Amino acid sequence: MPRLALVLLCLAFAGCGGASGGGGTTATAPAGAQVANGPARASTNRDLGVATPEIEHGRASRAPVPILMYHVIAPAPPGAKYGGLWVPPAELKEQVDALAGAGYTAVTLDQVLDGWAGKPALPRHPVVLSFDDGYLSQGKDAGAILAAHRWPGVLNLAWHNLGVPGGITKSRIRTMVRSGWEIDAHSLTHPDLTTLGAAQLRTEVAGSRRAIQDAFGVPVDAFCYPAGKYDATVEAAVKAAGYRAATTELDGAAAPSQDPYALHRIRVNAGESAAAVLARVQAAAGR
Ligand SMILES: [Zn+2]
Repeated sequence: MPRLALVLLCLAFAGCGGASGGGGTTATAPAGAQVANGPARASTNRDLGVATPEIEHGRASRAPVPILMYHVIAPAPPGAKYGGLWVPPAELKEQVDALAGAGYTAVTLDQVLDGWAGKPALPRHPVVLSFDDGYLSQGKDAGAILAAHRWPGVLNLAWHNLGVPGGITKSRIRTMVRSGWEIDAHSLTHPDLTTLGAAQLRTEVAGSRRAIQDAFGVPVDAFCYPAGKYDATVEAAVKAAGYRAATTELDGAAAPSQDPYALHRIRVNAGESAAAVLARVQAAAGR
């Protein structure tokens, strides 16, 4: 199977980019730990043995936080059905550099939820970079680009992409976790969850959380709806599986005033300039 076939199949049939329907003991400072007003350090989650972001002199804040949504980090092949979802590494790098230059610091979604809950978890201008599905390019290229700033990303992993051609690998994910990335669940097989029966829905939602926890020993606190499709039944399944929050494809910054199981995100499309992405982030964050 050609390397990109998985991606094409996924984008063509699984609806990864379809229209919206409704945190080791290493001392590597997680990227989100860098703040303007204080030094950063890593802490250890004793239960899970992984580095978790911790910010000294960080802030609790109820301000909205822009969550950027990316898919494949590569130039689109000719004739790609969803060409807009392929963002070349050079574009991602320019966007990340522009955000950093404007004072933004990437954090994990767990840090956002902690900050909203009153914990001193956030830098002055937080942003989340989320990567859907689990493509190899997200570990390889996005991982390196974010690591240059010691920033974490959020990988929304659809379990079936693990280890297939073009898909992300377990060893790559372990490296990302050591760099502070958060791994969240994006189902097992990327179905339209609103069409499933109760048992299958539970398997996709709770099973993907358990699979990631078992494989990588990390907390899995957020769920990302495949193709942004969800309804009240799907939301109930996500809550029942123990997640703290869920992300959608509804446009805009995530905010504590939103349903935590329907947080908004900002899609980044191929060809968008760094200035345009920065402007959208600043507008969403109210700057
Ligand atoms: Zn997807």
